[in-house]
Amino acid sequence: MSNIHPNFIAGDWRNGATSLENRNPSDIDDLIGIYACASEEDVRSACLEAANAQSTWYDAGPQVRSDVLNRVATGIEQRAPEIARMLAREEGKILSEATAETQRAAHVFRFFAGEALRVHGEFIASVRSGVDIEVAREPLGAVGLITPWNFPIAIPAWKVAPALAYGNSVVLKPAELTPGTAHLLARIIADAGVPAGVFNLVMGPGASVGAALVADPNIQAISFTGSVPTGRAISQHSLNGMKKVQLEMGGKNPMVILEDADLSVAVAATLNGSFFSTGQRCTASSRLIVQASIHDAFVEELTRQMLALKVGPALAAESQVGPVVSQAQLDSNLAYVALAAAEGCDVVGGERLDGSGRGYFQRPALFLGATSSMRVCQEEIFGPCASVIRVEDFDEALWVANDTPFGLSAGICTQNLRYAREFRRRVQSGMVMVNLPTAGVDYHVPFGGRKNSSFGPREQGRAAAEFYTSSKTSYLFSG
Ligand code: ADP
Repeated sequence: MSNIHPNFIAGDWRNGATSLENRNPSDIDDLIGIYACASEEDVRSACLEAANAQSTWYDAGPQVRSDVLNRVATGIEQRAPEIARMLAREEGKILSEATAETQRAAHVFRFFAGEALRVHGEFIASVRSGVDIEVAREPLGAVGLITPWNFPIAIPAWKVAPALAYGNSVVLKPAELTPGTAHLLARIIADAGVPAGVFNLVMGPGASVGAALVADPNIQAISFTGSVPTGRAISQHSLNGMKKVQLEMGGKNPMVILEDADLSVAVAATLNGSFFSTGQRCTASSRLIVQASIHDAFVEELTRQMLALKVGPALAAESQVGPVVSQAQLDSNLAYVALAAAEGCDVVGGERLDGSGRGYFQRPALFLGATSSMRVCQEEIFGPCASVIRVEDFDEALWVANDTPFGLSAGICTQNLRYAREFRRRVQSGMVMVNLPTAGVDYHVPFGGRKNSSFGPREQGRAAAEFYTSSKTSYLFSG
């Protein structure tokens, strides 16, 4: 058992009853490591220890919490090459993207180290004489954080850092496909001097470990990022237990290209938004809504640049697009490519590539001639595939942009201020980008969406306080 990477519970590194292999999607013969799976008893123990440790952590005060978070940021920076390599190896992001994600995680911890010192309340005069009212923000208690594989360090960072900053204790359940990066983060948090029980890591499958965390009575709130069906199930179970819940789920993000757009800006933003990170971002541009008069020029140039993208192993210096994360995801992507053809699209690219080694490589794909009601324009694919929908004018583009059950990020490329402003006001999404890719956001401002994309308060930036704290109104009469 000694070579199994253990869970972290109550300040101890503990092996689980079972374990899971972590394999490299660029080469499935590369076994990255074996990671412990938490048993139900392990999850119970982590949640109980977290609940017991929380008040000490809160009472330690903002300076202690800020110092610990700063040390975590420094730890991430110091170990950045190792973390980025692990991330690229287990998730398949190319090394430059993995390095940027790692730096982002350090920035997030640094930001919340500052926020720990800026917990504001309000003092309000009472309508009753001699009475003072104070509205304070307090931590929730022990919180459960469930994270996906596609940002294996950034998403744990943007949940763990605010949770700890505001005085909560944490049980983190990372995705079973990417435990390695979360494990390195847990080591750094442990080394930063967080008291025993305040931060816990439980690894393993969602259906057992994740579900046990959601059901645990010692957990006051659940923050989840992942798919819509899992999010829906988690919200129902959380509400049964009267837990506060925050969900970040899918997207079907539109990128509108108007006829007055700068073509090179539009193509660069689309290439990035649709295909970088193998399209495995909830903010990826998956519907390209293009005005008829610029359609052919845009499609020709985008196709040329897309087909020139080098798809290959995440750690190879020349790779621009890494592998798909798993066999199941690749099968799903290929099924959507076939569906696009069956629905009447002209498909460019999208085929499986052999690559070097045994990896899940797929050429990026464009589905030309798509219409908004097609399944490929309504369902999240989560791969390097984008549909192209031709529209006549701005009004039609806006209508199509809003014609999905999702509302995470939306983009428009135009040089016309009136259309840019109108799009910002009327598009139904939590984030809007003008002349920028739909993916790629700053770490210090709210992140989240509408409709099926998100539920509950926004994540990141100062907005995170809404989820990770509870307000208390206290009245004082001094006699
Ligand atoms: P994906 O399809 O991208 O893997 P999921 O929603 O299945 O997205 O997974 C996101 C996270 O939710 C992962 O950590 C996964 O283990 C976890 N998870 C999956 N099913 C459940 C569940 N029933 N209860 C709690 N967590 C779950």
